[in-house]
Order: sequence, then C-alpha cells, then structure tokens
Amino acid sequence: MSAIYLDHNATTPLRPEVAEAMHAAASRLVGNPSSTHRLGAQTRAAIERARVQVASLVGADPAEVIFTSCATEANATAIVAACADASPRRRELLVGAADHASILESAAAWEERGWSVVSAPVARQGGFDPDALRAQLSERTALVSLLWANNETGAIHPIAELCAAAKAEERAAGPWIHVDAVQAAGKLPLAFGELGLHSLSLSAHKLNGPKGVGALVLARGVPFVPFLRGGPQERGHRAGTENLLGIIGFGVACALAEDELAARAERYAALRDQLWAGISKRIAGTRRNGDPHSTLCNTLNVTIDGVDGAVLLEALDLEGVCVSAGAACASGSSDPSHVLLAMGLGLAEARASLRFSVGVGVDERQIERVIALLPDLVQRVRGGARQ
Ligand code: PLP
Repeated sequence: MSAIYLDHNATTPLRPEVAEAMHAAASRLVGNPSSTHRLGAQTRAAIERARVQVASLVGADPAEVIFTSCATEANATAIVAACADASPRRRELLVGAADHASILESAAAWEERGWSVVSAPVARQGGFDPDALRAQLSERTALVSLLWANNETGAIHPIAELCAAAKAEERAAGPWIHVDAVQAAGKLPLAFGELGLHSLSLSAHKLNGPKGVGALVLARGVPFVPFLRGGPQERGHRAGTENLLGIIGFGVACALAEDELAARAERYAALRDQLWAGISKRIAGTRRNGDPHSTLCNTLNVTIDGVDGAVLLEALDLEGVCVSAGAACASGSSDPSHVLLAMGLGLAEARASLRFSVGVGVDERQIERVIALLPDLVQRVRGGARQ
C-alpha cells in the first residue's frame, strides 16, 4: 500500500531535481568552501549560486542570506541578535500567541533570564489585528516576531500592515522585526526587501528541499551578534563548515518554487478545496478552522465533532493516509494544539481537529480516496468515544 501523504506542512518530499543536484555535487565537490585553493573555490561557487536562488525566492539581496542548520536555528539566531542589540531599556519580546514552538521556546528562554514576553493574541479566525499589535508595542519592546503564515491552520497574516504597525519608529531605534516565513515560502510571493524587516527565517524541507538546512535573511546594515561563534563562515554571521549538499538542494528547491509558484498555488488550492467539499458534504459536525479567504493554498484544518484527533489520525494511518493532529514537533504528546486554543477553540474542539496539507505528488484520486475513507473512520472513532 503506498501512502497518501497529506502532511506537507510537517515536511515535504525531495523533488527529483533537488536530489539529482545534490547527488551530482556529492561526488564532484570535495573542497572546503573556506579553502582558498581551486577546490575550495569550486565549492564556494556552488554555495554562492544557491544563495542567489534562495534570495531570489524571497526578494532579498544574496548578501542578506545566511545559511543555518534549520529554521529553528534561524529563529533562535534572530532572537539572540535582537536581544543582544537592544538598548538596556528594551527588555520585552512581543511574539504571536500562535507562533511556532521554535519562537515561543526561544522567547521563554529569555524570560528565564529576566526578560518579559508579551503574547500577541490571534482572533478566532487565526489572524492578527495590526491595531491591537500596535497597542501592545512599547518603548520596552526589543523584538516583534510574527509568522507570515501559520503552520497548523495556514492562516496568512497581513505582514506588510503588521510590519508597518510594528515599525512605529525608525529601524535603528525601534524594535527588531522578525518574520518566520517557513510556511509561506514557496506558497506565497514574498518581498523581503520591500517590508523593512530586520530578519526572516526559512527552511528547505518545507519546500521540497532537504531536511536540516535553513536560512536567516538579515537586512543589510542591521547590527548582528552571531549565535554560533567560531570560524568566519557566512561572513562571520554563522560559524561552522556549511552544509554544502543541503545548501545546494535548498537553492534548487527555491528556484523550482519560484518558477512554479503560481501553478502550485492554483493546484494545491484546488486539491484542498476538493477535500473540504468532500468532508463537509459527507460528514456532519465538521468545521474549518481559519479564514478560508486568508489561508495557505495547501492547508486545511478541520474540527470533526466527537472525535479524538489522535485516534482518527491513527485510523487514517492504518489506511495509509498521513495527516497531522497539530504541529509535527508536538506529535507523540496528547497536548491539544496551542494554535487552536489561542484562537479560542475549547479543549475538546482542539483535540477533535486534524490538519491536512497537500503538496507535490498529491492528486485528485488520492483526495477522493481520503473522502471515501473518512466517513466510516469518523463513525468508528465517534462510536469508540461513546463507549
Ligand atoms: N517555523 C515554522 C512555522 C515551522 O512550521 C517550522 C517547522 O515545523 C519551523 C519554524 C522549524 O523549522 P525547522 O524544522 O527547519 O527547524
């Protein structure tokens, strides 16, 4: 039985073009990119090509891209740099209540050191209100961190408006503005250069690149204190020999994502809408979480009354269908999604929710199969819950 993979917000399969580029580089490139001899220069040139590809996808200058081991590291790096650069009167971090754990846990670590963390609430539909955000800013705010799009609900935030609200003061004097664009990249057009942000984070494995490589995009001229210290790699911004093959794969994945952005958005949205139409028609007591007009093209988060999402997930898995009952990093725990709770769903509703996320390789037949399977599985799980 081949799996029907509807968990592309957790991670995505490698595109063959990406695997081929990585494979070719693995046997061809031997030098350390920091070496000044010809073999080092060849490796360095491959990294610089990838830097151009990554920068192009997000509308940044290549010199603004710093490769990291993942987006978790990029997020932590931004927070460390923002805190290190803040004036002593700025000791507050403003983070979204529905942000990814990599932001929330990094912020919590600063809280343990005596900083305050203020949580920006999300509305029932999963969005932020720029006026509410502006009201939470103060002269104590050192960092504002926002998700461009939420990993669990797909809620797309009005980043341009939110950034304008957060930038009440000139960049040098105001808070550091960081945006986690991990889920938005490859699904939405991004224009880093136009937003006046300080930094933005990306992850290769969310856009059909390899796992274990990410990037922090850091605006030119922003004072920066590195998180990892050591050698002079990444122009002194991130020490450690670069993940050469990962970076090459990341670059190719970004180039493909840029070329295919509009086509993917259309295709994914059609698959997601097909799935929701089937679920809502065939299963009573279902609700879509988030504003359908402002949701990532590939994401569907659904509450199915009377089910335990974790049990339904297992039942689907036995049928070869892979979905998520929250963020991948939270799987294995029975904690309900903090994102859905932040949106005001009750515990039972949050526990009764599943996330379906489509991507490359998903087709209409697979979606039909899931729609055909779900009603019986839901009935069984609902029956089990009543016993
Ligand atoms: N930010 C968001 C919104 C994510 O969805 C994820 C991964 O789930 C991350 C950050 C962390 O990315 P990585 O796996 O590259 O550390």
